[in-house]
Order: sequence, then C-alpha cells, then structure tokens
Amino acid sequence: MTRSGQEYLAALRDGREVWLDGERVRDVTAHPAFRSAAASFARLYELAADPALRPVLTQGGVHRAYAVPRSYEDLVARRHAYKAGAEAGFGFLGRTPDYMASGAAGFAALPGAFAAEDSDFDGGEHALAFHRRLAEGDLHCAFTLTDPPSGTGEDDLRIRAVQERDGGIVVRGAKSVGTGAVFADEILVGTIEPLAADDAEHALSFAVPVDTPGLKLISRSSYEQRARSVYDQPLSSRYDENDALLVCEDVFVPWERVLTYRSPAATAAMWWRTPAYLHLTHQSATRFWTKLEFLTGLAILVARSHGTEQVPAVTQAIGRLLGAVAQAKAFVLAAEASWEEVDGGRGGVRPGQEISFAQRIMAGELYPRVVQDIKLLAGGALIQLPASGRDLLHPELGPLVHQYFRTPGEPAEDRIKLLKLAWDALGSEFAGRHEQYERFYQGAPHVYLTMQTRAGAADACEALARACLDGYDLGTTGRTG
Ligand SMILES: Cc1cc2nc3c(=O)[nH]c(=O)nc-3n(C[C@H](O)[C@H](O)[C@H](O)COP(=O)(O)OP(=O)(O)OC[C@H]3O[C@@H](n4cnc5c(N)ncnc54)[C@H](O)[C@@H]3O)c2cc1C
Repeated sequence: MTRSGQEYLAALRDGREVWLDGERVRDVTAHPAFRSAAASFARLYELAADPALRPVLTQGGVHRAYAVPRSYEDLVARRHAYKAGAEAGFGFLGRTPDYMASGAAGFAALPGAFAAEDSDFDGGEHALAFHRRLAEGDLHCAFTLTDPPSGTGEDDLRIRAVQERDGGIVVRGAKSVGTGAVFADEILVGTIEPLAADDAEHALSFAVPVDTPGLKLISRSSYEQRARSVYDQPLSSRYDENDALLVCEDVFVPWERVLTYRSPAATAAMWWRTPAYLHLTHQSATRFWTKLEFLTGLAILVARSHGTEQVPAVTQAIGRLLGAVAQAKAFVLAAEASWEEVDGGRGGVRPGQEISFAQRIMAGELYPRVVQDIKLLAGGALIQLPASGRDLLHPELGPLVHQYFRTPGEPAEDRIKLLKLAWDALGSEFAGRHEQYERFYQGAPHVYLTMQTRAGAADACEALARACLDGYDLGTTGRTG
C-alpha cells in the first residue's frame, strides 16, 4: 500500500550511517544539509493521497511503476504517473521512488535473467521478492552500480564477498554514485558495465536496508545547506537529492537479498536482458521532458521580464527551445509506440530499445545546449542580483533595490525572484551538478553507445548505403547520368 509522507520520513530516522563534512549525521530529516530535500521526497509520497492524482499514480493500491506493463496502454499509463511525479520536482529530482520501482518491475518481468550458466546461483526468486517488498512497502530504493578506481587483491576497493557464512555473505568495498541514497529505504548494489567473463569475484548484486550495520554513506557537500533561503536559491534549497559514496565495511547480506552471485553473465543480464534499463529510461526520459518544459518556461518568463520577447532573434531562440521540448517528448512517445514483448518473459512489454538508447545519447547532448541557449537569452542580469532577499527587506537599502531592479510593469521583488530561480537552474553549483547528472546518471556514454550499436538499425542503414553502391560500377566512368 502507498505510504504517507510522514510514514516515509519516520522510516528514515533509523540510525543510518551518513557522514558529511567530518560529522556523523544523526537524522537526515532534521539536519540542515538534508531536511528540505527529505521533505520534498515526502511530498511525492503525499501525491498518491490526492483524489485527483490517485488513479493516475496507483494501480491495485501500489504505485503504478510497480505494475509489470503488459500492453502499449500500460506504458502510456505509466508515463502519466511518471509525469505527475516529475512535475512535483520540476524535473530536478532524478531518483524519485518511482525510478527504481520501474526497474524492479523490469526485474519481475524476466526473473529467469538472474540465473546464468556461469554460476549455480539463481536469484530469480529473490528478484521477485525484491519487487514485492518494494511494492508492498512503497519503499524508496537507491542504487549504486559504479566501481571506484581500483586495483585487485590487497588494494581492491570494489565490492566483493569476503566471506560466505551461514545464511548469507559478508561484503566489503565501495560503489558510487549513490544519488538519493541518504533518503532511501534500501540500496541496490550491482554493476552496470559488463564484467570480464572470469571476474566472478566482483559479479554480485544485492539489495539491503540503508541502516544495515557496516553500510556507510559519505555525502558530497550539500547545496541545500549552503543555500541562503528558498527565495534566494529555490531549487538548491529544496531539491538537492544528494549523491553519496557507498562504503560496505563487512556488511552481512542474507542470501534472500542476494540477486546475482559469482555470475558476470547474470550480473549484466539483470540490467540488459530484463527490461529494467528500458523502464528506468522511460521514467527518466519523461522527467527529462518535464525538466525541459520547466526550463523553457523560465526562458519565456525571463525574455518577457527583459522586454525582449518580441525581438525576432529572441522569438526564434524560444522556438529552438520549444523544439527541444518537443524532441524530448517525441523520444518518450516513440519509445512507447515502438514497444516490444519481453523475450522469454511473463507476458510483459518494454519500451523500444532502439529509441530508448538513442534517448540517452540525445539527452546528454541536448541538455547542455538548452542551458547554454537560455543563459544567452538571460545575459548579465543573471549575475547582477542582490546577494539575498534581505536587501529588499532592509529599511534603508530596500527602497533603492526596489527602484533600480524593477522594470516597467514588473516590481523588483518579482524580477529578482525570477532571475534567482533562473540562476539556480542554470548557473549555480546545483545547476552544474545537473548538467553532469544528465550526462552520466545512467552510465557513461561508452556504455549506452555500445548498446545502441547492438539495438540500432545498423542492418537497414548499411543496406540503404549498399543499395546506392550497387546501383553503379566502374562501367559508369565517364557518364554523369
Ligand atoms: C550527478 C551524478 C549522479 C549519479 N548517480 C548515480 C546513481 O545514483 N547510481 C549509480 O550507480 N551511478 C550514478 N552515477 C554514476 C554514473 O553511473 C557514472 O558516472 C557512470 O557510470 C560513469 O562512470 P565513471 O563516472 O566512473 O566514469 P568513467 O567510467 O571513469 O568514465 C569517464 C569518461 O571516460 C570515458 N570512458 C571510460 N572508459 C571508457 C571506455 N572503456 N571506452 C570509452 N570511453 C570510456 C567515459 O565515457 C567518460 O566520458 C551518477 C553520476 C553523476 C555524475
């Protein structure tokens, strides 16, 4: 059943080991580095209680992202649910609970992928239990799939089992980048880059509660903590979903929580044979589209505030941004329309592979361009802003700020508010992190480009080029028609 925001927040007060700035954080829901983002995640949980949104967000009493889609219509319904969640965070919360929920539904569609010939371990039942546990508890699950730079043997920093015990394994090592991990109930640890066929040692995947003894999260610096106020940094202050390094210091993982073990083939297949990666991409492509809508809306408001909205070059720049929004939308709709049945699955369908991998390529390239285009429209006004809203409120300075920051038809308070939001979205440290996020959040380019070379229409492309070549030969030398 779906949880309330308060139930979600209460579950985060579990003694989890989060470190920030040389300090052990006792309670992420109360700490100034995390509490507003935790509240933003809690608000997402509240959405399901809204009578208007409940039919959009849920199916059979649980979030719709958990339902294994069985038709094109199911994919469309999932997208509507993703969109409602994405709009609540204006596209800036990447690792919302429906993200991993969609991946879990992908695992449940093909549990057979959790067994492979290179290992006796079969995690299929555990994957189904993982999906059930998350759905029934309405849990927020983060994941870490990237290895730290590492050698082997004594210097090995990568996650591996150091002991098999009665009932489970003991794991040691680190993984990055745990986006949202400090706000999650569980964390899924795995590997997204294919491992060498003989690397059984690092070929494992498991999911454990974040408060598991020995599990530590080392947080990056908090943008939320450094934000002066909501008025001054409206996004950094409320939507800093955080990224943390996961360190496992001899963490005991019961067998029932192990998904793949000593199997490079199954460790890769859980992402690439099941539709998990494609469902994750469907969710995040919908979020991306929403984020571009938000940024384009900002651009329109900034141009209006500047009084440049009717300048032809500005109108065209807005047109280019609206084209980017349509492009982002088109990838979502096309991935749905090109749906495929899950090979060897249990009647599930997945968004089309070719379009989904292409979305990853497109989004990583488009996002920086959109940010750049809006910065060009906005100009120096993004920088020339009072340090904080306190300048406006000051009895002596306030009237001066009100006088010199207003434009015809727009009071200074509103213009500064808009431009501060724009800077937070486009130029702040929070914004820089988002640019990196859109490029890397689901693996590095060489990972999804490789997948595209397999899923893309290489044969059709080659055939067309070949047809042209086959249409003439050396005998045409000297002729032009
Ligand atoms: C803000 C942010 C949030 C993230 N959140 C998460 C998360 O929640 N969970 C998670 O698991 N991961 C997350 N990631 C991590 C992401 O999965 C990794 O950044 C990604 O897999 C790339 O790994 P890397 O950073 O170690 O880069 P590297 O693999 O070191 O790559 C660095 C650069 O070198 C290139 N390169 C490296 N090896 C090759 C090669 N063999 N061939 C060609 N080019 C190569 C890459 O393409 C890239 O451009 C996040 C990343 C960012 C930036």
